[in-house]
Amino acid sequence: MNIGAGSRRRGAARLLATAVLTTAACVTGQLAAGNGTVQAAVRPGFSDGGVPVGGASRAGTDLAETWSKASQALLKPLLAAAQDARGRPVDCRRAKCVALTFDDGPGLYTDALLRHLKAHRARATFFVVGQNVAAYPAILRRTVAAGHEIGGHTWSHADLTRLPAAAVRSEFARTDQAIKAVTGLVPRIIRPPYGALNASVRMQTTRPMVMWSVDTLDWLHRDSAKVTKKALKSVRPGSIVLFHDIHPTTVQAMPRILTTLSARGYTFVTVSQLFGGKPPRLVYSGASSLL
Ligand SMILES: [Zn+2]
Repeated sequence: MNIGAGSRRRGAARLLATAVLTTAACVTGQLAAGNGTVQAAVRPGFSDGGVPVGGASRAGTDLAETWSKASQALLKPLLAAAQDARGRPVDCRRAKCVALTFDDGPGLYTDALLRHLKAHRARATFFVVGQNVAAYPAILRRTVAAGHEIGGHTWSHADLTRLPAAAVRSEFARTDQAIKAVTGLVPRIIRPPYGALNASVRMQTTRPMVMWSVDTLDWLHRDSAKVTKKALKSVRPGSIVLFHDIHPTTVQAMPRILTTLSARGYTFVTVSQLFGGKPPRLVYSGASSLL
């Protein structure tokens, strides 16, 4: 699902104060390095937690209300405090936590990835494409059953900045419906394909948009050694690491990445766990943005 869109720049500076959006394929929109924290401006009428305030004017345009009411009980285990490999609770404000994220699945290599994660008692976050959820429902079900977090990554892996508002909402809604049909859950977080985001897209959902702070460029290199090297060199406590589980080279890299980071004392947590069991704020990319 890496869609080569050619190099182009996208302007999202209005929302992403430090964003530098460049290049193509699934990782366009790398956020600026540094502290990695990117906080969107708070929209009038919305709290900074992404929850509508002052009435339900957006009811029906987004499923945020749905997840907040119907899915919270089901999500409780996912939002429980992070645990280390021995099952002891971990406070990511003090311990070394890292959120590994896998985009564009589910796919043919996801089950192998689930086995690697299980071997290290690692939790991860999967930003799934709606079309692939429809194609591989059982794999998504197994992913949720294993305790991983699911985020939305649109229905067709579209560049949302090129779509009209109604089409953006449809991309979210179709994906939500597909995930809910399979798992009973509606994702609380979204990652826009290519990291492509602007003010119009941001207005179409109240849910957090999750970027990343470490880009392994796995889609580009398709080389396990390079992916491993990049991940091991770049991960810091609080990192959100971008991978794609549709590439076998990425999945093959995971045993060494997991083993090495474990030896360095890292706990592998979901994105929500990284933020203390709460979904993050409007837009963030990990690193030192722990709440
Ligand atoms: Zn993607």
